[in-house]
Amino acid sequence: MPSSDSFDYDLFVIGGGSGGVRAARFAATRGARVALAENDLMGGTCVNVGCIPKKMYSYAAGYAEGFADSRGYGWQLPGTPTLDWDLLKVRRAEAIRYLNDVYERLMVGAQVRRLQGTARFLDAHTVEVRAGSGAPLTFRARHVLVATGGKPWIPEFPGSELAVTSDDMFDLPVFPRRLVVVGGGYIGCEMASIFHGLGAEVTLLYRGEQILRHFDDEVRDFVAEEMRKAGVAIRTNTDVARIEAVAGARRVHLKAGGTLDADVVLYATGRHVHTQGLGLERVGVALAKTGAVQVDRHLTTNVPHIHAIGDVVGRKELTPVALAEGMALVDHLFGPAAGQAKRVMDYDNIPTAVFTHPPIGTVGLTESEARARYGAIQVFRSDFRPLQHALSGRSERTLVKLVVDAASDRVVGLHMVGADAGEIVQGFAVAIKSGATKAQFDQTLPIHPTSAEEFVTLRQMTRT
Ligand code: NDP
Repeated sequence: MPSSDSFDYDLFVIGGGSGGVRAARFAATRGARVALAENDLMGGTCVNVGCIPKKMYSYAAGYAEGFADSRGYGWQLPGTPTLDWDLLKVRRAEAIRYLNDVYERLMVGAQVRRLQGTARFLDAHTVEVRAGSGAPLTFRARHVLVATGGKPWIPEFPGSELAVTSDDMFDLPVFPRRLVVVGGGYIGCEMASIFHGLGAEVTLLYRGEQILRHFDDEVRDFVAEEMRKAGVAIRTNTDVARIEAVAGARRVHLKAGGTLDADVVLYATGRHVHTQGLGLERVGVALAKTGAVQVDRHLTTNVPHIHAIGDVVGRKELTPVALAEGMALVDHLFGPAAGQAKRVMDYDNIPTAVFTHPPIGTVGLTESEARARYGAIQVFRSDFRPLQHALSGRSERTLVKLVVDAASDRVVGLHMVGADAGEIVQGFAVAIKSGATKAQFDQTLPIHPTSAEEFVTLRQMTRT
C-alpha cells in the first residue's frame, strides 16, 4: 500500500458515476487515501438519467400491458387507467435523490473525500477543482483516475437544436402525445417501447436495414416484429433531413420526402465521451480518434499514473463494465483484497439486456459471429406464445436461441426475446461463462412451467 508524502492523495478520481465511485470506495478499503470530484449529482448517467430511471419508466409502461392483460384473467377495471405523468416524475425524482444520497454516504463511509466541483489537470500529478465562484483548490495525487463518462450526441443538421436527448426524456414538462425517436440502438429502442407503453404514439426512425445492429440478426428481426405488433411504428432505411418548429410541435422532414409531426423528437444516435476541459492534452494523455481515452489492459493511459475506466474509455458502455474496470484497476494499483485473487478485466461473454417491450437478454456470440469464429456451428431455437398469454389474449411471442460450437459442443451464444429476458439470461450467463456444453444444458432439468425452461429442452437442431 502506498503511503506517500509529497502527495495529498494516493488516488484522485474525477467523476462520481458508477465506475468512479466503485474505484474510489474499493481503493479506500485497501487503505489508499482517496478523493473524488464530481460537479453534478452523484451516481452519473446510470443513476440520474440512464439505467435506473429508464427501468423505473419501463416498469411504469409495463402496467399498461398488465391492465390490458388482466381482463383476460377476469379482472374488471372500473375505467380506463390513465397515467399521471407529473406524479411519475415526482416519484422517480424522489427515488433518484435517495440513491444520490446513498452514493454520498458510501463516500463518507469509505472515508473518501468528496469534492463538489469541476476538476482539471494542471500538470500530470496536480488536479484543480473549481466550484462556483470560490477559489479553486489544488491537489497532488500519486494516481489520477478519469471516470467522466459520456453524454448523448446529436448530429448537426437544420433544426437539430429542436431535438432532445435521453437526458431530457425523464423530465419532459408535458407528456408527449406523439413521439418520434431517431436511432435504432439500445436507447432509441428502449425509449420507443417505454413511451409507447406510457401512452404516446411512437415512431422510431432508423437509418439502416434493421434496428439493433451488433445483436443477433434473428433477435433483431424478432424484437422489431414484436415492437411493431405492440404498436411502435418502426421505419427502417429512413433518414431525417431537417426538423422544423410548427405551432407548438415539431415537423420532421424525411430525406426520402414526407413529414412526421411530433410533440417531441428524441435523438438517440449514440454517446460521445466527456473529456472537454479536463486538460488531458496538456498532460499528454493519448486519445483515440473518437476522443475516447486510450488505455492498456490495466486501464492505464500512456501516462503511467493516469488511468481511465467506463464510458470515457468506450470499450463497452455498460455500468457493470465500468464497475468491473474500476475493481480491476484498484487491484492493479493497490493489490487485491486480503485472500482474494487479483482481478483482471475480461470482456468476453458480457451479458446484456435491452429493456424493450418485450425485452432482449443476450450473452456470448451472435449466430454470424459464431459462424465466423468456429465455422461449424449448430443453432437451436424456438419461438412460442408464453403461457401467460393463453388467457391474456396478447399475441406476443417469445424467442429462445442457443448457438453451439459443433466441435466442442460448448454453447457460445444464448439469446432471448421475451418477458424477463434480462433476469433469465443473467443466470444462464454463469453457465456460458463457465463453458457449459449443449449436453450439460440437456442434462439440466427444467423448471416447469416457465419460459426459461425452453433453454434446457431444445432438442431439435434448427440449422447448422
Ligand atoms: P447506440 O450506439 O447503441 O445506437 C445509436 C443508434 O443511432 C444506432 O442505431 C445508429 O445507427 C444510430 N445513429 C448513429 N449516428 C447516426 C446519425 N448520424 N444519424 C442517424 N442515426 C444515427 O447508442 P445509444 O445512444 O442507443 O446508446 C449508447 C450506449 O449506451 C449503448 O451502446 C449501450 O452500450 C449503452 N446503453 C445500454 C443500455 C442497457 O444496457 N440496457 C441502455 C441504454 C444504453 P447504426 O446502427 O447504423 O450505426
